[in-house]
Amino acid sequence: MSTDTTSVAAQYLTVGGATVDLTVRISHDHIADEDGQNWADINHQAACTGCGAKEDFEDFGTEDTEPARSAATNLTSPNGHAAKRWAQDHAATCRALPRG
Ligand SMILES: [Zn+2]
Repeated sequence: MSTDTTSVAAQYLTVGGATVDLTVRISHDHIADEDGQNWADINHQAACTGCGAKEDFEDFGTEDTEPARSAATNLTSPNGHAAKRWAQDHAATCRALPRG
């Protein structure tokens, strides 16, 4: 069984007036091991709505625990932190106007 949850963790306004949307996808598709530990793939993606730049930060086979999930969602996990930094850096330099 696979259950995916995707949520927007943060949005950053770019200097061009677009946003960088930072989403977190948690895919729980690993069977619990003999110790009953669940595993998940946690993917952070930062996507700019101005220029279309995207960056993925993937963490495969992470222990699926409540603290791990909230660290991912609150961007305090290592990958969450890296994604946040990328999004902030991009927002500070991207001058593309919002598309559409
Ligand atoms: Zn951009």
